[in-house]
Amino acid sequence: MAEILVTVGSKTALPKTGLEKLVEKLAAMGYQVIGPQIQDAAIVYKPLKSAQDLPKGYSSQQDNATYRLVYTGHPRYFDATPGAQSLKQFFFPPLTELAKYARDEKGHWQIEEQTRDLTPLALIGVFPCDLAAIQVQDKVFLREEWKDPVYWSRRQSAFILSVNCLHPCGTGFCASMGTGPKTNPGYDLNLTELEDVFIIDIGSEAGRMVMEGMPVLPTSAFWLQAGQKTLDEATLKMGRSLPNPEQLPDLLLNNLDAHQWDDVATRCMSCTSCTQVCPTCFCWDTRDSADLTGQTAQRERLWDSCFNPEYSYIVGGNSRPNTRSRYRQWLTHKFGSWYAQFGTSGCVGCGRCITWCPAKIDVTAELKALREEVQA
Ligand code: SF4
Ligand code: SF4
Repeated sequence: MAEILVTVGSKTALPKTGLEKLVEKLAAMGYQVIGPQIQDAAIVYKPLKSAQDLPKGYSSQQDNATYRLVYTGHPRYFDATPGAQSLKQFFFPPLTELAKYARDEKGHWQIEEQTRDLTPLALIGVFPCDLAAIQVQDKVFLREEWKDPVYWSRRQSAFILSVNCLHPCGTGFCASMGTGPKTNPGYDLNLTELEDVFIIDIGSEAGRMVMEGMPVLPTSAFWLQAGQKTLDEATLKMGRSLPNPEQLPDLLLNNLDAHQWDDVATRCMSCTSCTQVCPTCFCWDTRDSADLTGQTAQRERLWDSCFNPEYSYIVGGNSRPNTRSRYRQWLTHKFGSWYAQFGTSGCVGCGRCITWCPAKIDVTAELKALREEVQA
């Protein structure tokens, strides 16, 4: 067979037997490969040694406060949608040491230089909503006037191998948010998984280099048609919807005294779970600590939450003293004022906050109820 030219912007097909080679090639190019795997009955992202460790044959079921993996034995690697974890942890880790101090021989504090691990990451099996969430966090952490050094150090060299979401989760509404189930640009490689092959979109020069020398096949019209049909069906199978998200800033910011805020406050436990699982939430706190001898000290950054009462405690008073004000802050920021701040919605429709809320609070239902109250 004539040699198949692999170019940026082109499509090619990789038989599934080639997936292991793809993982090996990324590792040989110096990437630390991270991929979805099963741990504690959920999908988590962690270092991947082999394609054998991917959740082949599994599907996931999600609903309010429900996440379940089911083994059906099908031949697909990327059917099971992610659990509570997103990729946020790799660029904005839950805990980061920002600075370390040690006393010198005269007892003066000296700052010890921080070294950052610059090993490039290859994130594989990134779902469309999670790639969109990374792009939302890019707007937060990589601004024109300031770049977060911790985020930047891992983000700039990351390789992203995304997957079209062909079996969407029951709580997601990415079709409403324009973030899925087809992956938007921003990937190095994007897979559409069929029974025997992957159709691969090559999105960057790094992606092209990875595909060079791989055992690819020409993309047949049959495979392209099958991929498109499955994507169209996926859009119809979406678990939730959120009509006209661009109208939400006006709805939310003009109705701060709505009864709906009192109603949700009777159900919300201010537990912070929704913000911890949300792939775009970025609240953090800094913590200083010293060892018992007083010779060393450190400053750390750790994830925080706008649901945490201490988060809004300022100079002797709390600007958001109750659950009503904290839930309202979360929703109005995420779906409303985020547009003015970062030029986009803060929500990508991944559905995690619905799946992992122990009180079964559903943002799509809350926003619908607010709309109905205002229109009544
Ligand atoms: S909305 Fe649900 S997950 Fe979020 S703080 Fe309230 S109870 Fe917890
Ligand atoms: S608000 Fe909920 S649905 Fe939207 S990105 Fe965050 S976790 Fe996902």
